[in-house]
Parts: sequence; structure tokens; C-alpha cells
Amino acid sequence: MTENRPVKPHVGRHNLDPHLERYAARTAGMTASEIRALFAVASRPEVVSLAGGMPNLAALPLDSLSAQVADIIAEDGLVALQYGSAHGVPALRDQICEIMALEGIKAHPDDVVVTVGSQMGLDMVTRLFCDPGDVVIAEGPSYVGALGSFTAYQANVVHVAMDDDGLVPEGLREALKQAEKAGQRVKFLYTIPNFHNPAGVTLAVERRAEILEICRAHGVLVVEDNPYGLLGFDGQTYPALRSLDPENVVYLGSFSKTFASGLRVGWVLAPHAVREKLVLAAESATLCPPTLNQMIVSRYLATHDWKGQIKKFRENYRERRDAMLSGLEQYLPSGCTWTKPDGGFYVWVTVPEGVDTKAMLPRAVTARVAYASGTGFYADGFGSRQMRLSYCYPTPERIREGVRRLASVLESEMDL
Ligand code: PMP
Repeated sequence: MTENRPVKPHVGRHNLDPHLERYAARTAGMTASEIRALFAVASRPEVVSLAGGMPNLAALPLDSLSAQVADIIAEDGLVALQYGSAHGVPALRDQICEIMALEGIKAHPDDVVVTVGSQMGLDMVTRLFCDPGDVVIAEGPSYVGALGSFTAYQANVVHVAMDDDGLVPEGLREALKQAEKAGQRVKFLYTIPNFHNPAGVTLAVERRAEILEICRAHGVLVVEDNPYGLLGFDGQTYPALRSLDPENVVYLGSFSKTFASGLRVGWVLAPHAVREKLVLAAESATLCPPTLNQMIVSRYLATHDWKGQIKKFRENYRERRDAMLSGLEQYLPSGCTWTKPDGGFYVWVTVPEGVDTKAMLPRAVTARVAYASGTGFYADGFGSRQMRLSYCYPTPERIREGVRRLASVLESEMDL
């Protein structure tokens, strides 16, 4: 029934959205990533996608998992299918504390708040701490989803450079000094210390205490995002920042990379004083995280060899990392450099001057390879000579073929 609807002339492309005048000011920073725009093309089977960060779940024991899900519903269905507390299922919070102990964290289950993936944790923490115009310090580059949360709450992101040992302490000092001089309020440092997304580097152990000290000295909270910490290829783990300064670190964890991303179960471990507000923020966002999904994770942890499963994931990712690094070594034109991850999903590539990775992306997709161009990982437009390559999902053969295609696109770009 559209005949009586007034028809407005479409003058200019913005007028295509009849709700334009209604949006809250905070939506101005919400933009789709370019890879999402190319997603339909990039996900065609002939395209090797080195763009997304989808975990490879093929090694999961699907038969026993499906039996367990059936058991949970048969034995405890009226609980599993009911609302729960915003705080999360108690048994799972206990198990989360055991997992965090692997990285040196001593936590009380009451201080753990279960979230719908750590993405929700990021959103809640930003909601709790950031007013419009506040500053968040983040590594440059940084996780695109975190930048999305920061801009959604109108925080200004100041990037601090990394080197092969992660965030550079001197850069952090300088950024804090500059912000203070400019009269800005810095709310927190957002950092991904282990197997960084997108940079692929890990914060050196010697730097950890120093970074915490700098933040303390400037009265700045630390938000530690650690979804990849147990995916070190040699099984190595690093002391969590949270373990070194419990009262000044909010820790974000997730089962997305160590179990199943689609269950959307993550957590926040907050300093005790913050916990109460986090639960209130979680309540207003979702009422409670999905009870069934939490029970699935909890039973999986109680009955499966989950450490053995993580080892399988690690071996799988290590093989793919090796395929990517050998492909880069063999095919990429000289002048390109890249990081060499010891865990996680990503390699960060810098291409020679004159090549713009964002402009090149449609040509790469035509050549049947996709990547994530660097500018999406910065809030300030930097990154045009960078790209993120993910090795987590395609087979080793496809990864090498993708890198070969990418190299030939780069070569023609450099000839232009
Ligand atoms: N933080 C980082 C650094 C990530 O890479 C991701 C997922 N790619 C997330 C948070 C969000 O993870 P999830 O919401 O699935 O737990």
C-alpha cells in the first residue's frame, strides 16, 4: 500500500535515506569497512580471501558437541532456555578464572562478567568510561571493531606506534604528554598485547611493567584485549597485564578463537569497584548473555580435553602461518616488509611508497585475492601503504596461491 505515500525528489545521494535528519550525532562516525562493501565479491569461491578473521573450526568434535547440546536441553532445558543473570552462569565464571590463571591472573569469579563476545565487552567498557571528546589511546594499527566502539561513543583515538616488540613505551609517554598539554582527558589505553590484530606482533615481557607504570603515573586505565593469548604456536603464554596490576586493568577475554565464535561468549574481568557498573551496563544492553550458550561452553570445558583442542587449533594455524610466510618470502616484490607472528591469525604488510592498498583492493579482487587494507585499522586515515593478511581460514595451498596473486597485482601497481 504505497499509493498515498508522499514522494520526495532524490536530490543528491544523502537524500536517499529518509531518516537522515533523525540520526543521533554519534552515528556520524559509523561507516562500513571497505572489505564489508566488497564482501559479496570477496566471498566468491574463486577469490582467495586473506581478508577476514574467521576462526577455522574444522577441528571441532561436532558429534560429541551435538550430543552434549541435546543432553543439556534434556537434563536442564528449563534453565538453559530461560533468562539468566546479567552477571553470567556461575559455573562458567569459575571455569573462566581457571583459564585466566594460565596467564598468571588471580581472579575472583564475582569479578567476571560474561558478555556476548568480547565485542560486547568493548562496547560496555567504552560506554562506562567515555564521554564525547574523551581520548582513548590505542596501538596504531588497532582492532577495527574496537575503533568502531570508540567512534560510536564519540571518543577520539590517539594511536601509538608499535615495533616488533609491540607498543613502544616512549611513544605512549609522548602521546600522554601531548594529550595532557592539549587539555584532553585520556580515559584508557586500549591494547592487544598478544598476537596482535592486525599487526601480528606481541608485547615484549620486559615492556609490560613499564607500560603499566606509565599508565598509572598518568592516571590512565588499561583495557587489555586478549582473544589470542592461548594461540601461541609453541604453546607459549605471556603474563597478562591484568596479572601485573589487577586494580588498574580491565581484561577482555573470549571463547571465539579457542572454541566457537558463533556461540558469542566472552567476558570482562574488571577491577572490583567497576564490576557493579559493568553488570548494570550488561543488563541494559542484553538483559543477560544467552544461557544455553554459556551452558554449552561450561559443559564443553568440564568434559572435553579443551587444552588438547586448543593445541589442534594452534597446529592448524601454525601450518597456515608457515604457508603465508613462505609465500610472502617467495613472491612479494622487493620493498615490501611484513611482520612474523608467533601466534594468532594475522600478518601486517607494508608495501612500497606509491602503492595505495585501498585503491588497489578492487583490482586485487578482480585478480581473485582479497585482503583488508590498512586504513581501516587507524582512526586517523593512516595506513594507505599497509594491509592485513589473515592466514587463519584458507588451506595452506590456497594461502600460497593467494599470496602469488597478490604479488602479481602489487607488481603491476608498482609499474604504473
Ligand atoms: N578483540 C579482538 C582483538 C579481536 O580480534 C576480536 C575478533 N576478531 C574481538 C575482540 C571480538 O571477538 P568476539 O566478540 O568474537 O569475542
